[in-house]
Amino acid sequence: MTSGPTAALRAVVARRARYRCSYCQSQEDVVGTLFTLDHIIPQALGGSDEIGNLCLACWDCNRLKQTHVTGIDPQDGQRVPLFDPNRQVWAEHFAWAEEATLIEGLTPVGRATVAQLQLNRPILLRARQRWMRAGWHPPHP
Ligand SMILES: [Zn+2]
Repeated sequence: MTSGPTAALRAVVARRARYRCSYCQSQEDVVGTLFTLDHIIPQALGGSDEIGNLCLACWDCNRLKQTHVTGIDPQDGQRVPLFDPNRQVWAEHFAWAEEATLIEGLTPVGRATVAQLQLNRPILLRARQRWMRAGWHPPHP
């Protein structure tokens, strides 16, 4: 059997995230996939399975985050912490641009997270264009 967070804990974290990826904001019921739980501080770095260290993330964001807790702000090359969905507010670090197809980093944390997690992956740009036309995107604040 698997260890790690229980199904009940997953349900709480997913509801708290309003069933969206905490990073790219994709919605589970638009993508058609149940997302995974991301350890904000990775287990490999001693991060716990406590709810305060867990957030909902799509599989691609989770994979791209790997064991990173910092990233490079492309604007000045400084290494800064990645976005922490439990302690920071998405809209303070990111904004939708280009008719909501692009996520723009507003802060060093936001820019580094856009870069490390590739929040403007080509497949996401194409999906967001379709979601826009369907009226499913961007998600309500
Ligand atoms: Zn994502």
